[in-house]
Order: sequence, then C-alpha cells, then structure tokens
Amino acid sequence: MKILILILFSLPLLAREYAYVLQRLEGHRFQIVAQKNEKISSMPGSLMKPFTAFFLLEKDPHFFMEKKIYCRGRDPYGRKCWLPKGHGWINLSSALAHSCNYYFQQISQGLSRQEFLHYLKENYAFPQDIFSYSPALFLGEKLSRPLVLKEISRLLDHLYYRLSQQDSVGQEVYRGLQLATKEGTLKTMVQDVEKKSFWKVLAGKTGTTNWRNLSEGFVYLVLQDPTKKIFTLLYYEAGTMGGKVKLARLLNILERGMKHGR
Ligand SMILES: [Zn+2]
Repeated sequence: MKILILILFSLPLLAREYAYVLQRLEGHRFQIVAQKNEKISSMPGSLMKPFTAFFLLEKDPHFFMEKKIYCRGRDPYGRKCWLPKGHGWINLSSALAHSCNYYFQQISQGLSRQEFLHYLKENYAFPQDIFSYSPALFLGEKLSRPLVLKEISRLLDHLYYRLSQQDSVGQEVYRGLQLATKEGTLKTMVQDVEKKSFWKVLAGKTGTTNWRNLSEGFVYLVLQDPTKKIFTLLYYEAGTMGGKVKLARLLNILERGMKHGR
C-alpha cells in the first residue's frame, strides 16, 4: 500500500520530467510539428538573456556593442556567475554564447524593470499579467509567476521574428546565439546532434533555473533540415542544466519531428 501511494504521488513529477515544442517555419509563421507536456511551467532563466540584449541595444543610450566586462566568477558584492572560475573578458556576443550571469548582472544595473517589462509585452507577446520586483528579471528569474512552456515558446517565436529583421542590432544578438553552438554552452550538444543526424543547428540558447530548489534545464535550437526548412525546438528537462540534457531523447524528438514534418 505504501509503495502504491508513493508511486501515485511521484506520477506528476515523472510526467513532468521532460517537455518540448517542435515547430516548423511556414512562410512567416511557426506551425507546431510535435509537442509534449507543453503545460509545464517554470522560470525562463537564461532564455531571457537575448531579450535583455535587445533591450540594451535598442533602448539604453549608454550601452555600446563592444563594451567588455571582466567576469571573475564572483565580484566583491558576492554576485556569482554559474562558472566559478569566471569567463574572463567578455562582450555581448560572448556573454550570450557562454550565458555569463556576471556580464548580464553588470550591464542591467540601473535599467528600469518597468520599461523592460513594457518592452517585452509590446514587442514579444510577453504575458501581460507578469511583473517583477527583482533585478533578476533581466536574467529570467524571480518573475511574479512561472511561464508555461507554450508561453516561452511564443516568446521565442517573436525573438526569431526580431532576429530575422537582419538589422545591425539583430545581427549582433544572432551572432551570440550562433557562437553558443560553436564555442559556447551548446558546443558539445550541437557537435553530437550534427554528427548523429541530418540536422544543421544554426543558433540556440540554453537556460537553467533553480527557482524551486530543483535544477531545470532548457534548450532552444534553431535548426535546418536537409531541404533547408527552418525548425525550432524548445526542450525542457527537470533535474539537469540546459547544456546537459539527454542527447538520445533530443535526437529522438528531432527524428520523429522530421518524419511528421513532411
Ligand atoms: Zn561569467
């Protein structure tokens, strides 16, 4: 009996273990190809950094692209980067590629949370009811409520549309997301995906959050199939970091997606 109760209680957790939304770009709109557990919710974490980057480039007159910051891993005020030894000298595109928390903490100091939320809601279909009293908002943490995977997916669709405008600001952010796949947090995963499948990964971003004392990882990928069609995958996994999700499962989703997508 005890075992039965234990199993019943752990079912929701097991069911929530991973989730994804795989989409294909049709004309100018994304169509869902496959999805699972898309109603799970979490803090978006570092998936928000590209939006913070756009906000800085478009709205902060004091910010310039070449600006460099030295990440020591931890500053005198105790603010930490996820990489304990630090990332060294870092600029906007390398901070996106390596998801440097320290860089984003430093550059978002003094920015208005109200203006950022307004900017997100106006331009990226960010949920209207969300607010935040914490500067961690710029790193995708401490929002007034977690986002449902579908909401994060929609937000990233709008990010893609913004990147596609190919102006100098869009190119700069895109460079960071490309760099993530070549030398940043997605390097190993992308090498494996490209070695073991027909997909080409064009750009992406990882995210990790610990808001409920459980590590939860996100991977966002912009992909191209052999016929040059564009797909995006938003993948979530409980109990891990964004760069360390289960590769076999990711490949499985992509393989099934390619069959369904035809
Ligand atoms: Zn760092």
